[in-house]
Amino acid sequence: MSNVLELIDVRKVYPGTPPVESLRGINVTVRGGELVAVVGPSGSGKTTLLNLAAGLDRPSSGSVRITGHAVEKLRDRQLSGVRAHRLGVVFQQFMLLDRLSATENVAAGLLYRGVPARERREAAQAALERVGLAHRAGFPAAHLSGGERQRVAIARALVGRPAVVLADEPTGNLDSVAGQGVVALLHELNADGVTIVVITHDERIAAAMHRRIELRDGLVVGEAR
Ligand code: ADP
Ligand code: MG
Repeated sequence: MSNVLELIDVRKVYPGTPPVESLRGINVTVRGGELVAVVGPSGSGKTTLLNLAAGLDRPSSGSVRITGHAVEKLRDRQLSGVRAHRLGVVFQQFMLLDRLSATENVAAGLLYRGVPARERREAAQAALERVGLAHRAGFPAAHLSGGERQRVAIARALVGRPAVVLADEPTGNLDSVAGQGVVALLHELNADGVTIVVITHDERIAAAMHRRIELRDGLVVGEAR
């Protein structure tokens, strides 16, 4: 399988006094079909890494390649296109719109792909079924439990059938039963061929993945399979 994500000597510096060097030279390659955990203590650079790997931000130096496309060579519009067609992102804080239904939240994941409204709706319902939430499709997001909201966020990431799903602390706000449900779902998706990168500070979640990359102070300090 080909490389779906490549970070080559990636650095990220946030300006300020003093500037914060969030990533200090990261080399990571993720191949198609992998199920990877990125672990590390709070402040080690995990979310920064996800934002770069997802094309949501650009590195200060080094190269990020998403399904072979070098981010530094793409204009913003081209990068949005790569993101919309190749990637699904599950954000740390879900980012759901409370007043919209589960279906509408998931369908929003297709807005940048020029899919007609009716097809968006059908795809959203299929994605909700995939995560076991078909029976909540019409509920406003505000009325869903934490575990259900997390599943809506995952369904929104999946609705465009991305090659890669990047998830930032997808079990962070869940009790352990709901957390295990999310882990099982990630395994099912991976078995269907989706490449998955999960950011977590929970060692038990990391242990359930096939590969583990450990960050500390903006550097990779350990790798295991
Ligand atoms: P983690 O997700 O592992 O907790 P982050 O990637 O969020 O770590 O943060 C890594 C470091 O970068 C921290 O020191 C954090 O304060 C800093 N940082 C993150 N985002 C910003 C930003 N937008 N501006 C300035 N500093 C930031
Ligand atoms: Mg974080």
